Amino acid sequence: MERAIFEAIKLAVTKIPDDVVKSLREAYEKEDNPVAKFNLENILKAVEIGKRERIPVCQDTGTVTFFVEAGIKSPYLREIEEVITSALEKATKEIPLRPNTLDVLTNKNVGNLPIIHWELAKGDKIRIAILPKGGGSENCSALAMLTPAESFEGVKRAVVDRVKECGGKPCPPVIIGIGIGGSADFALKLAKKALLRPVGERHKDKRIAKFEGELLEEINSIGIGPMGMGGKTTALDVKVEITYRHPASFPVGIVFQCWAHRKAFLEISANGEVRVWQ
Ligand code: SF4
Repeated sequence: MERAIFEAIKLAVTKIPDDVVKSLREAYEKEDNPVAKFNLENILKAVEIGKRERIPVCQDTGTVTFFVEAGIKSPYLREIEEVITSALEKATKEIPLRPNTLDVLTNKNVGNLPIIHWELAKGDKIRIAILPKGGGSENCSALAMLTPAESFEGVKRAVVDRVKECGGKPCPPVIIGIGIGGSADFALKLAKKALLRPVGERHKDKRIAKFEGELLEEINSIGIGPMGMGGKTTALDVKVEITYRHPASFPVGIVFQCWAHRKAFLEISANGEVRVWQ
């Protein structure tokens, strides 16, 4: 299991998934600003080198974030946290990953510790999504506690304002996850989880799908462009997830992900079989 999680981490940091590459290529094809085209060309070269040489596509290998959906009948529940931690330690030494975990009080670097989000599920399988999250894009994340009257127009304004404030800092073209509803903490978690959906795929609810499309168009009309130097593509995609809300609250979590949108998934069956994919 440790080996499989190690391999999934390696896949995530060295190979940008096909959905992301496809949308980067489309952005390159439609771009006519020479600087933006050059930036996209270099991004695509980095993607290619990472895949070919099996080396990280960016020096910042991020805070390695795990979303674990743990089947309550899985025989591996007791050990999974320990195995994730040891696989990440091994990955840090062998791939290698940049040690990115600091003690807040002492600033001492302790290597790489995982951030794990747990969810219990029916059945005997454990499903894990791995999302290495770079610091530059994470720094642009934001929470907007809107009034219910502001509603979806308010969401649009909050997201567009944040995109403008951040400019080139999150290494665009970005993917933006938006979580609406719940509570302050839950909206942000929903926003981060939204990033796991395939790039280029709209939400299954037509109203949310329409909102995602409109927001993407508005963001790309700003002209920040690849690496913040101007151009047609500031965002590759926008992903919106919703949940129920309190009558007095309209929380909106906004999470940025850079062009190096690294992700991998694995499923551990009760018989120990492991399936890894992107
Ligand atoms: S934001 Fe992303 S692309 Fe930029 S330095 Fe960090 S990990 Fe690399």
